[in-house]
Formats: sequence, C-alpha cells, structure tokens
Amino acid sequence: MFGAEKHNFNTYASGSDSLAASGYLRWALMLRYNSGMSAAATDKSSNPPLDERLSAPVQYARGVGPDRARLLNRLSVRRAFDLLFFFPREYQDYSPKAAIRELAEGELATLEGAVEEIDLRGGSPGKSVLGVLFRREDGYFRAVWFNQPFMRERFERGKRYAISGAPKLQGLRWEFAHPRVEAAEEEGNEGQGDSGGGRPFAERKTTMERKLTILPVYPLTEGLNQPQMRRIVAGAVDDLADLAPEVLPTEFLDEHNLWPIKLAISQIHRPADRESAEKARERFVFQELLVQQLALAMRRAQSRAAGSATPFPVTTQIDARIRALFPFKLTKGQDEAIADIRNDLGQDFPMNRLLQGDVGSGKTVVAVYAALAVVAHGAQAALMAPTEVLARQHHETLTRLLVQGRVRITLLTGGLSPSRRQAALAQIATGDVDLVVGTHALASEDVQFANLGLVVIDEQHKFGVSQRARLKAAGKAPHYLVMTATPIPRTIGMTMFGDLDASYVRDAPPGRQPVHTYLVGEDKRERWWKFFTDKLREGRQGFVVAPLVEESEYFDVASLQAVYEELANGPLADFRLATIHGRMSGDEKAAVMQAFAAGQTQALVATPVIEVGVDVPNATMMTIEGGERFGVAQLHQLRGRVSRGKLAGYVGVFADPQTDQSKARLEAFVATTNGFDLAELDFELRGPGELIGARQHGGAALRIANLKEDSDTLRRAREAARKLIDQDVDLARPEYATLKRQVLGRYGKALDLGDVG
Ligand code: ADP
Ligand code: MG
Repeated sequence: MFGAEKHNFNTYASGSDSLAASGYLRWALMLRYNSGMSAAATDKSSNPPLDERLSAPVQYARGVGPDRARLLNRLSVRRAFDLLFFFPREYQDYSPKAAIRELAEGELATLEGAVEEIDLRGGSPGKSVLGVLFRREDGYFRAVWFNQPFMRERFERGKRYAISGAPKLQGLRWEFAHPRVEAAEEEGNEGQGDSGGGRPFAERKTTMERKLTILPVYPLTEGLNQPQMRRIVAGAVDDLADLAPEVLPTEFLDEHNLWPIKLAISQIHRPADRESAEKARERFVFQELLVQQLALAMRRAQSRAAGSATPFPVTTQIDARIRALFPFKLTKGQDEAIADIRNDLGQDFPMNRLLQGDVGSGKTVVAVYAALAVVAHGAQAALMAPTEVLARQHHETLTRLLVQGRVRITLLTGGLSPSRRQAALAQIATGDVDLVVGTHALASEDVQFANLGLVVIDEQHKFGVSQRARLKAAGKAPHYLVMTATPIPRTIGMTMFGDLDASYVRDAPPGRQPVHTYLVGEDKRERWWKFFTDKLREGRQGFVVAPLVEESEYFDVASLQAVYEELANGPLADFRLATIHGRMSGDEKAAVMQAFAAGQTQALVATPVIEVGVDVPNATMMTIEGGERFGVAQLHQLRGRVSRGKLAGYVGVFADPQTDQSKARLEAFVATTNGFDLAELDFELRGPGELIGARQHGGAALRIANLKEDSDTLRRAREAARKLIDQDVDLARPEYATLKRQVLGRYGKALDLGDVG
C-alpha cells in the first residue's frame, strides 16, 4: 500500500551501479550530444535536444548552490534534470479528516476546527505550556506546544484552523503536540467530493494551487533535511517540468492509460491527492519496466535473428536410442519439456530456453536428453553445474548411464590438478570428447571447444541475465538451456530470465514419497534425536546441516567442527559420522560423498554445500540447525535432498526466529511442500531482497519499480515490450528514438545489445 512504498531508492541512490545511477543522466547527455548523429533516422520534432536549463549542473537549480550541489551529488543528483526524477520514497498524508472518529493514534492527519479556548501556563521562559482547544460539529480536540509561548499569537478565538500532525488520545480527547498550523480557508469550496483520475489537467492545476495535503518524503543525506529537499525539488518542478521531453509517443500513452511526462513529474512530487500520486508513479514504474523488458525482448530477438546455430533435428531413431538409456519412463512434464527442446534444436537459430521445475522434478534427465541429441550429430555438449560436488556427481551419473555407449565424457572443474586440466583442455579443443561436465571453470578464457553445439547451465538461482556464462565456441553459436536450481517467483523470472523461452516440469516422478517437515521446539529436541537415530538404526542415513556462521574460512570450519563435536559426544555418539564443507578440496569432498553414498558413513554433518543436487536415495533424515538463518528457497532445496527415493523423508528444523517475519517464513516452509507456492510466499513476505540484487536485473538497478508491488505493471510492460519488438526488432521507428536510447543506455552494455540502428 501507500505507506509501504519504500522501494529500493536508497540502494539505488547509494550508487553502486553507476550505469543505472546515471541512467537518466546518460540519456540526457546522449540526447544532448548525440542528437545530431542519427538525425537521418530521427524525426527532429519528435526528438528535440535537451534544454540547457535541464542539462545544467544541479548547482544552478533554484535554491541549490555549490554546497548543496555537493550533497545532492552524493544522492546521484548531478544535473538540474535529475531533480525532476529524484522520486519520493513515500508520502506523508495530511489529508483533512471528515470526522474525529477517523483519527488513529500516531497516524498523520489534518483536522479543522474553530478556536474555543486558549490557555497559556507557566510564563517563565523554558517552562511554558500552550494549550488550544478546538471545536467542531462532532466534538473537541486540542493542540499543545511546550516552551513556545509565541505560538499563542497565531490564534484568534472563534477562527478556523487546519491542524496537522500525529495525534494521541489523552483521556477522552485527541491531542496534537507541536502540529503544523494553517488558517483554514474561509469559503467551503472544497465540497466537490471528486478526487478521481478522470479530471483534465487544467482542473488539476487549480487543485494543486490549494494547500498540499500529501507531502513527498525524499531520500536524504547528511546536511540536507526534508523541508530543504522538498523546497529544492519543488523549485525544480516549477522551473523545469515543462521543459522535460516526452519519451513515449502519445498513442502509446493513451493505449496504456499512462500520464504524459510533465503531468507525471508534477504529480509525483506534488500530488493533488493519493490517486494522483499513484497514477504519476505508475507512469514511471511502467516506463522503467518497459525499458528493462524492451532490452530483454531485443536480446531475445537478436539471438534469434542471428540465425547462425547448427540445427540438430532429433529423429525418432535418436529419440528412441536416448530414451532406452533411462531406467524409467519419463513423466508428462519431462516429455513436454523435451518436446519444446526438440523443436528448438531443429531451428537454425540458437535455442534460449529456461527449464523450471521443483526440486527433484527430474530436470537433469531433460538436460541429458538434450545433450545426447546434440552429441548424436557429432557435436559437443557442455553441462555446467553450480558447485564442484554437483559437477562431480553429474559426471559420475552420466558416466554410469553412458557406460555401454560410445559417448566420450570428461570433467572440468577448478579443483583439477594441472596435468588433468591440461589433458581435459586438449580433448575439448580437439574434439576428442563429446560431453563436458564442469563448473564455472568451463567459461574461462582457455577453454576452447572444437564443435560446441549445446550448453546446459544448471545454475544457482543467483545468476542474472548479464552474468549468465557464455562459453567460448568457434564457429556457430551453441544452443542454450538454462535450468533453475530452485523455483523462483514469476515476476523475478520475468526479470532474470526475461530473454528466455520457458518450459516447466510440474509433476514429480511417480512413487515419490512425501517429505515430512517439523519445526522442532526446544522441548522436543530430545524426542527428535530419538526419532532420527531410530531411523539410522533401521539402516537409513541422514544429514545434519549447520548454517554458515561467518563469511570466514576459519569460523565456518570451526563452527561446523563444534557442531560435529557436540553431536559425536551427544545424540549421534553411536554412529559413523563425517563432515563436509565448502573449504574442502574437490577431491576431499568427493571422497566424503563417496563414502556416504556407499553407506560407510551414516550421517553427514554439513554446511549448506550439500544444498544443491546431492543424490543419495537411502538418506531420508535431515536435521537443520539454525533454521532462521536460511532463506526459504535454500531450506526447500535442502529438503529436496531427502526426497529422492521410494522412502518418506523427514526434516526437523531447529530454529530460533527473532522476528515475526522470520517466524512466518519458517511456518510457511513447514506448511508448504510445493516449491513454486513457497517461492511466491517467500516473495510476499520478504520482497525481492536477497533473491534479486541490483546486478540481477540484467545490468541496471530498478530505481522506482518494486517487483513485488508492481507485478501487474511488469506483466503489462512485458507484453507491450514484446509487442513493440515483434513489430520492429530494432525499435527503429522515429517516435521511439528516445525510448531506444534509454534502453541502450541502461542495458546495452550489460546485455550486449550492440549498437543497433
Ligand atoms: P532436479 O529437478 O532437482 O534436478 P533430478 O534431475 O536430480 O531433480 O532428479 C531427481 C531424482 O529423480 C533422480 O534420482 C532421478 O534419477 C529421478 N528421476 C528423474 N526422472 C524420473 C522419472 N521419470 N521416473 C523416476 N525417477 C526419475
Ligand atoms: Mg538438479
């Protein structure tokens, strides 16, 4: 809602992403200095150069000067122009209340009343209390001032005033301490009752000339207070708003019911009412998301238009050969995803597909199918896993699966010895290997493929569009298949993977047993450990997961060691234990995992390195310590480790949540086993937060849009963007020239859009 509109402006304004921070500035500069360059393609009247007054350094804006300019620079406000787009992070609502009973304790409000009584006590300076009693039709209220006896002069008995502040109930009477005071208007011309969005601009202007009741709240920096900031921005709006060039064509604004830029600027800073503030914000949110989605749509269109991938048609014979390798029948979801991929691989432009599915839904099989389809044509395929453990595991699984055939497979991770690495690199470069499984090391400079046809990225959900690995391939572009390691909310998907086509594996393989999840209270821990150890005695295996304590090698290992000692001398004293953590070498980890998979160890005490992928069907038990320190997605991913086989899994979460939100997240985790539902729930609770930082938006932070609150706008912007790009791949129409500059200015580099047009 309104008050909660603390979108990430501060993150943005702190300026970690200079590209984004200066997005509008760059746009302004490009307009100013480059406007002649594309004159041939651009209609002059639709794209006039920026007015000098807008592009002037902010120092010269009204009420600024050199000192304040330095402070504003800290907030990334450099040009006068930037002030117009320095958006409020929220508003204070001083709208007059119609009745006393509408007041709420501590909530800002304005109330009108006539002075009934003035009472000034304690004359000596520093000790006075001024009380003013106001009368209304529906009762009385009071205003008080301490040590401001001069305020008495502001009031005249019998006259009406508007009093604004956060009232408190004192006994039975509402009281405002040190409120704002305005003499109330004499005529009651307030009564039209219509504050809706339908009125024309001219009429709004008169509304604005009346007292503002909704005040903007801006991000600040030390040395600039809120009233100063309000005055500076208001001055800029008065002087400059009319000069701001429009970015979107009129028909487009009409079609999407958006306000023109001048109206939006004036109303976002000095809204006539709540609806106007919303409507103004909506215009900029839409524009910002449109720019992002246009960039993604352009990237998608460009990689299609490149037309330079090798088609790998999957014949029924190839299809049958691959399916014969799998020891089970594929699920409906797997078949559908495979159908999408077969279709893509048959085209002569690169596949760019996202494969989403819940933990354990069997995405790997789909990836293997795609890889083998490409290998069947004599090309190479690369499978990139997010961790070394998982890469090794994929390598093993594939080696076992392909033991009968002629597919040559190798492993490439950062943990390889120099000699093994050299050997692998040589095989890859000469084409002596068909299938390469590895980590991010696959994307490093010295890895050159002889004939790369497909890249599969099984990524942690952290990677965004711009950091998605691109592998070096000679000749034609490879096809890309990206798999999410865990379900992500839809809106995040549209942002992080907006340039990809999507397939979903919705159903789990048949016969899968449920996982039972419990939040284990302090008093139930003994009982949980009894249950846990009973299962180990029955022959099952288990995990104990401890959170990462510090971003430090020493503390991680030390704290894991402490947990291990406690268990080895306590509840798990009778069992064969091992530890595994991220600081071990690849070989060490592999050895530990092997012993566990072979049943030699009964329980693994682990940091979340086991989060992704580890597949031991006999491991059905999991204890998670410090559950409040994990994200819900991570917990869900961990839970996936004990729902691999035909046996039911059990997860006990020990947690000490300190906040309501943390508690709500843990309760949601226990109650919801569907990963997609859980992702949406977590998103509801936390917002984009850690899921999506500045970098993950595909190169530029969002300055006003909030993916949680603006999901509808995102959907509309995405539709509009795809429609525009479908009609005009390079956004070359002159009426979109300014918009296109914004797209390239903000995302061109990060998304490698090149200098189209
Ligand atoms: P994720 O989608 O989390 O990557 P995996 O690909 O690791 O899931 O698959 C999880 C488990 O399900 C693996 O043990 C895999 O062998 C098994 N599996 C995959 N597809 C099927 C299927 N169609 N029928 C039965 N088991 C399957
Ligand atoms: Mg997987």
